Amino acid sequence: MGKAENSKVNQEIPVKKNEDYEMNIENMGVNGEGIGRIDGFTVFVEGALPGERVKVKIVKVTKSFAYGKLLKIIQASGDRVEPPCPHAKRCGGCQLQHLSYESQLKFKTQLVKDALERIGKLEGVVVKDTLGMEHPWKYRNKAQYPVGLVKGKLAIGFFAPRSHDIINLEQCDIQHGINEKVIEIFRRFINTYNIPVYDEVNHKGIIRHILTKVGFKSRQLMVVVVTNGFELPRKKELVDMLRKGIPSINSIVQNINSAKTNVILGEKNITLWGQDYIVDAIGELKFKISPLSFFQINPVQTEILYGKALEYAALTGQERVIDAYCGIGTISLFLAKHASKVYGVEVVPQAIEDAKENARLNGIENVEFITGEAEEVIPRMARLGLKADVVVVDPPRKGCDQKLLDAVLEIAPKRIVYVSCNPATLARDLKYLSENQYQVLEVQPVDMFPQTVHVETIARIQRADF
Ligand code: SAH
Repeated sequence: MGKAENSKVNQEIPVKKNEDYEMNIENMGVNGEGIGRIDGFTVFVEGALPGERVKVKIVKVTKSFAYGKLLKIIQASGDRVEPPCPHAKRCGGCQLQHLSYESQLKFKTQLVKDALERIGKLEGVVVKDTLGMEHPWKYRNKAQYPVGLVKGKLAIGFFAPRSHDIINLEQCDIQHGINEKVIEIFRRFINTYNIPVYDEVNHKGIIRHILTKVGFKSRQLMVVVVTNGFELPRKKELVDMLRKGIPSINSIVQNINSAKTNVILGEKNITLWGQDYIVDAIGELKFKISPLSFFQINPVQTEILYGKALEYAALTGQERVIDAYCGIGTISLFLAKHASKVYGVEVVPQAIEDAKENARLNGIENVEFITGEAEEVIPRMARLGLKADVVVVDPPRKGCDQKLLDAVLEIAPKRIVYVSCNPATLARDLKYLSENQYQVLEVQPVDMFPQTVHVETIARIQRADF
């Protein structure tokens, strides 16, 4: 080796900071950024698409790559579309609005394939086309808007990327339309009664955030106003304005968050009017949703995802199932009707309370919910000799703990269903399972988060001797 390696190391970096260049974009990175090369040197360009020729200004250079700011598109990609949202360039929420929806889905399929090949070293696994939405807009059932002052004027909207400047928002195309009305009412309320809004720097003021939850099927609406302390002047007027503006509203809650933190919600809730929860349905099941409880944010695609989980679990009614990382028990309850028994395991005690309540609400009795870390509880179940035919896992972004995977291997279920929000950790865990008597039969990405780079994936895994 020697020579070739050395010449590479000593190679001069062909780009300089603050200079302009023309370049071709060849690929798209995991964050939706365009990637190309200038004299063989990798340059990342946010907002540029594969197949485009662009002019960039180099804004940062490291030893092995640089960042370019997109100045001009010389030759646009046929997949480029005009983002419908006026905030698309500044809001960090949607990274792919400038890419046609069909191409977004292809990009997500490719992301999953790449992760499985590069990280998982898995060859020949069938990755199906990403299941997209017929109408990939207005799909979110939960919104949270920071409230503050910008140059002395009220701002309700979103934080600009990498900063805490609030940008005013009139509409958001991935949120339910009712939010526009909610924001408009809060603007009127705050301005009419001069309600102090939160100042992050001095930790002063009252209203910090507005949060909404919408039941897409039930059409129920919860509005949560997050305040810095218990004080909220003119509560009655706020309730009257919300009820008058949105007569169908079900729940108005004040959430107290006096901490100096980026976490949006505090632990204490006071119901100002109506129910202290809303109910929504996925398929035939009803779920109670409280201000603090986790619920999948895209209800339309959740039904598709859970339908796939049911298909991959291939239940006949006889099986014992473990649902690890079960949240408020949604997948557990979805599977329970088709299984003999389901055990749900989840670390957040409140979520387990909700899961139990949801089981009661739906009259489901063959479920048991256990609070604790999956990597502690499930090895214990394995040691006690518990057998399960199917194990479902739906971990957070960091994937499954090694101890959990080892316990699953010990339990040796016939089938494993892996639901993942991060292709990289999914690939890592599938590699381990496939080195230990399991075979990955099929991988199905589901587009839970249109217009963003996020992708949800579900994998069908079977014990090799089946
Ligand atoms: N399956 C549920 C929730 C998935 S989100 C649904 O579809 O709605 C992942 C869940 O894993 C969260 O509820 C989170 O609280 C939980 N969690 C995170 N780390 C965990 C751990 N180590 N053990 C058990 N649960 C965990």
